[in-house]
Amino acid sequence: MTDFKRDGSHLAYCPPVEKWDDWVELDAEAWPRRVEKHYSLVPTVCFNCESACGLLAYVDKETGKVAKFEGNPMHPASRGRLCAKGPATINQIHDPDRVLYPMKRSGARGAGKWTRTSWEDVLQTFGTRIRKAIQEGRGEEVMYHVGRPGHDFIMERTLQAWGIDGHNSHTNVCSSSARLGYLLWHYADRPSPDHANARFILLLSAHLESGHYFNPHAQRIIDGKMAGAKLAVMDPRLSNTASMADYWMPTYPGTEAAVLLAMAKVILDENRFDATFVKNWTNWEELEVDGFKAKGQSFDALMEALKKHYAQFTPQFAEKESGVKADIIVKTAREIATAGSRFASHLWRGSASGNLGGWQPARALMLLHVLTGSVGTEGGHNLNAWNKFVPKTFKVPPPQKNWNELLYPQEWPLCTHEMSFLLPHFLKEGRGRIEAYFTRVFNPVWTYPDGFSWIEMLRDEEKLGLHAALTPTWSETAWFADYVLPMGFSSERHDLMSQESYAGKWIGFRQPVNRVLRERGGEKFEYTYQTNPGEVWEEDEFWINLSWAIDPDGSMGIRQYFESPYRPGQKLTVDEYYGWIFDNSVPGLPETAKKEGLTPLQYMRRYGAFEVTRDVYKQNEKPVAAAQLAGSKVEANGVVTKAGKPVGVMIEDQAVVGYNTPSRKLELFSKTMADWKWPEFTLPEYYRSHIHRSAQAASVGQAGEDFDAKYMPVVDWPKDARGEVYTLLPIFRLPNLIHTRSGNAKFLYEISHKNPLWVNPVDAKKLGGIRTGDLMKVHTEIGYFVLHAWVTEGLTPGVVACSHHLGRWRINKEDQVERMSSAWVDLKEVGKGQWKMRQIESVSPYESADPETKRVWWSDAGVHQDITFPVHPDPISGMHCWHQMVRVEKAGADDRYGDIFVDTNLSFAVYQRWKALARPAPGPGGLRRPLWIPRVVRPEEAAFYIKNP
Ligand code: SF4
Repeated sequence: MTDFKRDGSHLAYCPPVEKWDDWVELDAEAWPRRVEKHYSLVPTVCFNCESACGLLAYVDKETGKVAKFEGNPMHPASRGRLCAKGPATINQIHDPDRVLYPMKRSGARGAGKWTRTSWEDVLQTFGTRIRKAIQEGRGEEVMYHVGRPGHDFIMERTLQAWGIDGHNSHTNVCSSSARLGYLLWHYADRPSPDHANARFILLLSAHLESGHYFNPHAQRIIDGKMAGAKLAVMDPRLSNTASMADYWMPTYPGTEAAVLLAMAKVILDENRFDATFVKNWTNWEELEVDGFKAKGQSFDALMEALKKHYAQFTPQFAEKESGVKADIIVKTAREIATAGSRFASHLWRGSASGNLGGWQPARALMLLHVLTGSVGTEGGHNLNAWNKFVPKTFKVPPPQKNWNELLYPQEWPLCTHEMSFLLPHFLKEGRGRIEAYFTRVFNPVWTYPDGFSWIEMLRDEEKLGLHAALTPTWSETAWFADYVLPMGFSSERHDLMSQESYAGKWIGFRQPVNRVLRERGGEKFEYTYQTNPGEVWEEDEFWINLSWAIDPDGSMGIRQYFESPYRPGQKLTVDEYYGWIFDNSVPGLPETAKKEGLTPLQYMRRYGAFEVTRDVYKQNEKPVAAAQLAGSKVEANGVVTKAGKPVGVMIEDQAVVGYNTPSRKLELFSKTMADWKWPEFTLPEYYRSHIHRSAQAASVGQAGEDFDAKYMPVVDWPKDARGEVYTLLPIFRLPNLIHTRSGNAKFLYEISHKNPLWVNPVDAKKLGGIRTGDLMKVHTEIGYFVLHAWVTEGLTPGVVACSHHLGRWRINKEDQVERMSSAWVDLKEVGKGQWKMRQIESVSPYESADPETKRVWWSDAGVHQDITFPVHPDPISGMHCWHQMVRVEKAGADDRYGDIFVDTNLSFAVYQRWKALARPAPGPGGLRRPLWIPRVVRPEEAAFYIKNP
């Protein structure tokens, strides 16, 4: 320890920027000789979750190859720190099984036969098809379906330039329910908790270890804890996060809203709410509930009415529903009240994405923030829109004129995002067809429920004309595509990223490391694939070139949006696209860059990130701009309007911007819910999930009086389903896994590759003495899967659990597959819609360009559970409700590990039962959905109205 070099070059974390051009480290492989290695450090942005942490690529100056990735200390959100998945980017870019060239199928869809093709062939084939579809008025037959989004706005811009309503996303299997709960309160559909400055933090699910904005939030939760904040975690599972908490509240899944409302009752009954805040900043005067009309009544009368309304949510009732002790509920409620404006929380997946009515916990959680006045405050709950920065681009196309019913069908008028997981069922029902389909870093066959219905759709050339999978890796979905197009990882592409990571706004720049370095050295390249491995392209350049292929002479009006803003009529380059944005729409960046003698683009290439502002609290209290006030009027309810559109609200005689809701206030009372046929849910409420014990009883013909069939269909078990009824928790993830892309990150897979069935010892006994390692058969409504048991006390009794992100499989033994992470399977359709899968061979060592693949020591790829789940569209948010009611038994003599069976005829029947719960449009005035609720790639207003409803 004494002979370290004084300049710290032997071992250091977060090298200072001035040393990035020539960073020196000792070569670990040469030890004990002291051999120096020289690196160029280039910043980019991680692509392995949505957090967008800053990476530094260490490029070996001798070989020109990226040797490793570490954290970028100049990135304001991640501050030089990463989770395990960031550095694992090195595995992904050097993975010998990755997709390197554009490939075209040479056999039937799904037959696993491929030949290499050219980018020119891809552009011409798709350009011609899309041009024809648009010219024939079939633009809605062109669909882009995104799994992992990489950047903000460029696809919205591209699709609107094409004039089509064709954006599909994965959001309705991810976060739609939480989003609806938040947006009903304040339009913004995500929270941005100020964890670092909080006094009390409440997390629903394992947020600290694997949740939304994982690393940036986790480090700030720890900052908060180190400054004295208490942490409470509501999660049926003893996650790593729960193990760090002051209070672990293992709720029975789906009962979280009951606990949150019991906390609200404590705060209300003990008069510990912030009356000034509630009076000023909620729309309490519009409230109508239990025969009480607040209009014309006093604020005190309202509070008494609220107390009466929530009187049923005693801590004892919440304990009975959830299993969390009443005294813990009371204690945490009081601590939340004491924290007051410094109460922070987060809810994203977990209870929201698992349960029927999963949007209610977000609505109930926000009630706690409203009562404590912790909205917009330091240490409190802020809005994502206040902490996320999306810059403007040049020449923005107008909104499209059409409405695509395959994306936003009339049954779910309040869904926050596209009903993407129902696409196979929509096509089966004859609602439309798709001429050109792009899946982008998206693997629905594996990550979605009901994957066999996806396979049936993807194989059907009548319903699906042409399918390109844009992907860095081979996947279960890519095998059924017509083209597999290699796209880049973090260090191989451009993107702009910004997320609500803390109390500030920032922008990060993902960039192709090799290209940047070589251009710094004076070389010039037309396209990024000329510097990437193989012919791995980046999407920005792909979409620009495809747009030119669709409209080569500009006559369709499309090409103009993909021409240079500096060189009229010439093709737009990525330098011009980002250069224009950095020059014109990132406040403060040009000035900061100038101080260093750099252009804004050079600055972003140098540092990789820029903090735009720290002025983010209480944006609702900003005065309405003078230009907006001129010619405005104040309506009877205090809303300031201009030309019929709300622009602000009067608060204590001042016109301030407020929130983007109809009342411009926080909507305690949602008139939208009443207007759209859900009058029973105008206030935050609790209703029982589809996996509630009463629903379990109903499924075996023992419905008690607390089962309410109005809100949930009764499970119809397949004839051969045996075993005890349980709730399966399928949506937690191990912190080092990345959906499909962990499959080509060998270090991550080495750490986590099994997903056994978690069983509490109490249940293990009930099931006949189950021991860890026993083979179990889990029946869902549409089939079954077989896996090993893991007996653990880290899960509340009555529930079993299985991690997603594992159970990869492949049809080909060796070619076009990820061998390290998947089992080779025999997949058969044994009857119409009846699918059977059996593992032939699991993971084992193999020869490849990477010598380490011979050292693969694990022999388990996990079991694919999601494919055995039917779809469960929440009737209001549209979210897939992931939790499953299952029957669990010991596996039989014929069952083998990894066996899977599914009947898609049953899955279609389940879809129809759930669809029947919805209350379809039209809403007021013949609308498809409320005008004030955001919509991805929003069409023009006229498209919101159903013609002849
Ligand atoms: S949290 Fe981890 S995976 Fe996500 S962006 Fe940061 S380093 Fe990458």
